Amino acid sequence: MNSFSYVRVSDVESALREGGAAGSRFLGAGTNLLDLMKGGIERPQRLVDVTRLPLTAIEQLPDGGLRIGAMATNSDAANHPLVRTRYPLLSQALLAGASPQLRNMATVGGNLLQRTRCYYFYDSAFAQCNKRNPGSGCAALEGYNRIHAILGASDQCIAVHPSDMAVALAALDAVVRVRGPKGERAIPLGEFHRLPGDTPQRDTNLEHGELITAVELPASRFTKSTYLKIRDRASYAFALVSVAAALDMQGSTVRAARIALGGVAHKPWRAMQAEALLAGSALDTGLLRKAAAAAVEGAKPYRDNAFKVELAQRAIVRAVQTAGGMA
Ligand SMILES: Cc1cc2nc3c(=O)[nH]c(=O)nc-3n(C[C@H](O)[C@H](O)[C@H](O)COP(=O)(O)OP(=O)(O)OC[C@H]3O[C@@H](n4cnc5c(N)ncnc54)[C@H](O)[C@@H]3O)c2cc1C
Repeated sequence: MNSFSYVRVSDVESALREGGAAGSRFLGAGTNLLDLMKGGIERPQRLVDVTRLPLTAIEQLPDGGLRIGAMATNSDAANHPLVRTRYPLLSQALLAGASPQLRNMATVGGNLLQRTRCYYFYDSAFAQCNKRNPGSGCAALEGYNRIHAILGASDQCIAVHPSDMAVALAALDAVVRVRGPKGERAIPLGEFHRLPGDTPQRDTNLEHGELITAVELPASRFTKSTYLKIRDRASYAFALVSVAAALDMQGSTVRAARIALGGVAHKPWRAMQAEALLAGSALDTGLLRKAAAAAVEGAKPYRDNAFKVELAQRAIVRAVQTAGGMA
């Protein structure tokens, strides 16, 4: 058994002091971290419970944007009137994740930092996992890799990032606010999660002891949007491929588009080439197919997941058609 100590904090200063100590980890609702501890995958020496921090507010910003406190639950964020009316994409993505019971507990901060669902990462019977045990190899490369990455992977790790919420946040140009021993900083969502490269043990650019305090969304001009999640079961399953699509339209012309993919890479994957192709054009299926093809340019499938290359393209076409009122 791996022993650890536990402390609950009620203000941010105490959280930073406790969380900065070597071996400490912040504890949100524990729906991911505690599972990993039970499996012996994560072994913190001290848990710093941050669920009682006064960071649950969801409020409008002076510039028309929105701040969501890191301790807001996934349910509260999904169901908040400002989220439902101004960022329905985010609400849909949150509601596509996990189960009502989990969403009632899970926090926004914890959701961003949930770890991959790669089978080989979760099963310590496999000696090879560079994410769990750097330098040991990647069992998924030659193993069963149906759920794995097709974009941005490396020969060290082909795991994918599992959060639905983060895919919507990537499309909405969200910023993650953090506080740490060196002060406060704002990290654009696109720079928050990392590609595996040769350091797959690092999922994000967060430093030890840094606390997520909020997620901020800019005022949204993307009035048409949809989150499409393709999965093996209709609910309670992680995405094989998901698409967050948001459109700013003038009549039938796309002024600007945002497209982010889940289930295909080690981080939410912004399809910027596809976005550029759509901008300034009328939405039609031929153009959409071209944009979808651009989104998976350079894709590298593995033995069991080649289907994702086609699936991602079809999902992009359907999601943008739905967002644009074509479907
Ligand atoms: C059966 C099951 C099905 C699921 N299905 C889905 C799904 O379909 N889609 C989906 O997106 N998710 C899914 N999830 C994952 C779920 O959304 C996450 O487990 C949850 O969001 C994590 O939030 P938490 O508060 O419990 O985090 P915790 O488990 O408490 O923490 C997760 C990580 O975040 C860190 N952390 C927590 N809060 C902070 C903070 N404020 N600052 C810095 N670090 C912090 C912790 O140290 C830890 O490393 C599923 C989970 C389960 C168990």
